[in-house]
Amino acid sequence: MIELKNIRKDYGQGKQVTTALSGLDLSINKGEIFGVIGHSGAGKSTLIRLINLLERPTSGEVYVDGINMTKLNKSQLQAQRRKIGMIFQHFNLLSSATVYENIAFPLRLVKTDNKKVDQKVKELLELVGLTNHSNKYPSQLSGGQKQRVGIARALASDPQVLLCDEATSALDPQTTNSILKLLLDINQKYNLTIVLITHEMHVISTICDRVAVIHQGGIVEEGPVAEVFLKP
Ligand code: ADP
Ligand code: ADP
Repeated sequence: MIELKNIRKDYGQGKQVTTALSGLDLSINKGEIFGVIGHSGAGKSTLIRLINLLERPTSGEVYVDGINMTKLNKSQLQAQRRKIGMIFQHFNLLSSATVYENIAFPLRLVKTDNKKVDQKVKELLELVGLTNHSNKYPSQLSGGQKQRVGIARALASDPQVLLCDEATSALDPQTTNSILKLLLDINQKYNLTIVLITHEMHVISTICDRVAVIHQGGIVEEGPVAEVFLKP
């Protein structure tokens, strides 16, 4: 589903270059929950942002659903990005829009008719358990509820991939577990491929099928979670 081939990512130019990733290869299968763990500065955020080309690799190739992302023009890239939802550590909701309109936002962008928007938003509100909060504003919600809105918004375009950028790092342990359970339910219900980055081992061991350990811009370990973490 996702393939990164011989990726290098440099930030800056000349003497100021920081190499965030180098010689990185990664292959993620359809329907799996794949975790990337590593310390701050290891390159996790760069890695996940390469998948939807929020960052462009300095060299190497990014394939999603068989399509080489680096070769697309602007409108092709927009279309391809609709297959890839994303959620964030700080939720990134529109503060002046209601829960309903936050979820509807990706559909409004492509001028979906109101009836379809309404149907989809109601289905998603139910999925994430926020049916009774649709007219609230983000400031009236708890952190866990905000992330549920983020998840519903990310699913509005029926993506095949969900990218989770430290999605539970701002939440308490109990709320983290409820969000992880929701992600697992969604993975099973839609056979959605989920890629998550985290610095928390607990997140990986709770829901991931496979994990990669990233260190100083390269993958140092990769495999099924039980194999990578239960080594003597
Ligand atoms: P992580 O998500 O694991 O904390 P990042 O991908 O954010 O790691 O960062 C990897 C490396 O790239 C770090 O050395 C970081 O300082 C550097 N880096 C990240 N983004 C930028 C940027 N926009 N400009 C310059 N350097 C950056
Ligand atoms: P830092 O440069 O951030 O101090 P460390 O050398 O302490 O990094 O290593 C950071 C983490 O990266 C380790 O705790 C481990 O999780 C992971 N790591 C580093 N090297 C390896 C390795 N060879 N195999 C597995 N994990 C590794």
